[in-house]
Amino acid sequence: MGDSIVRALAFNNTVRAFAVNIKETLQTAMGFHNLNPLAATALGRALAAVAMMREMTKGEDEIITLKIKGEGPMGGLVAVSSGKGMLKGYISNNDYSTYGEDALLGVGPCLMPGFMTIVKDMGLKEPYSGTVPLQSGEIGDDLAFYYTYSEQIPSLVALGVKLKPDVAVKSAAGMIIQLMPGAKDETVVFIESKLRKAGSASKLIEQTGSPEEMLKFMLGNENIKITEKKEVSYNCGCSRDAMLRGVLSLGREEINRIINKQEEVETLCHFCMKKYKFSSSEIKGILKN
Ligand SMILES: [Zn+2]
Repeated sequence: MGDSIVRALAFNNTVRAFAVNIKETLQTAMGFHNLNPLAATALGRALAAVAMMREMTKGEDEIITLKIKGEGPMGGLVAVSSGKGMLKGYISNNDYSTYGEDALLGVGPCLMPGFMTIVKDMGLKEPYSGTVPLQSGEIGDDLAFYYTYSEQIPSLVALGVKLKPDVAVKSAAGMIIQLMPGAKDETVVFIESKLRKAGSASKLIEQTGSPEEMLKFMLGNENIKITEKKEVSYNCGCSRDAMLRGVLSLGREEINRIINKQEEVETLCHFCMKKYKFSSSEIKGILKN
């Protein structure tokens, strides 16, 4: 069974909720990037987050990017969710041996201090972007802070990754529960008590087995209405054309400089590690037109 994401409404539409299972998605990411355990944990949390953020938007073509730029040894990360449940991402510095003592303290210290930026690209005019300073660097906390302060939506964000000792994914999941206008205090108390029982997103997916069951547990079977369910997977979607456009965007001067030095231009897709090679004559030909 593949990964999936669900969207739900609860408590007479005063709560909206999202839950996602990204176990296979993260396993694929680890294969592409040979991620160390901390990097896998960070990227897994970020992929779960963007998958759910995309479901908050109405446009099927909208692309959500979560970027972290940190001064910690991991450096940062990028996670992207585009149409049809396509997820991809990478870590700036995956070299565990350079993390030093921060590695013992977890994801936050390996990223902090720094900033989180959310970019929403609707494919029209300028993309929207919002940036907040990292709060703990654990990603879930930072995203909750972003929603509260940047979008004024009180949000519970739980993102969890558990790995097996052989660096295989045991569980990777997330949920976001948001209060809409009219939400009652007793609803908040209900959700908070459930969260204490659940412990964490990774524990909850292990216990319940699916994103639907996670939300049913959190919000109560009698209160919830699942409104959408779809599949998600790691899917880069890069192409030779897109990579060539990237090369051309360097500008004529820079391209000429590269061509004068070497016969071939090689570019690497950071999301799937695929290499693309363009001969200098191919690029010269395009530049002429
Ligand atoms: Zn790619």
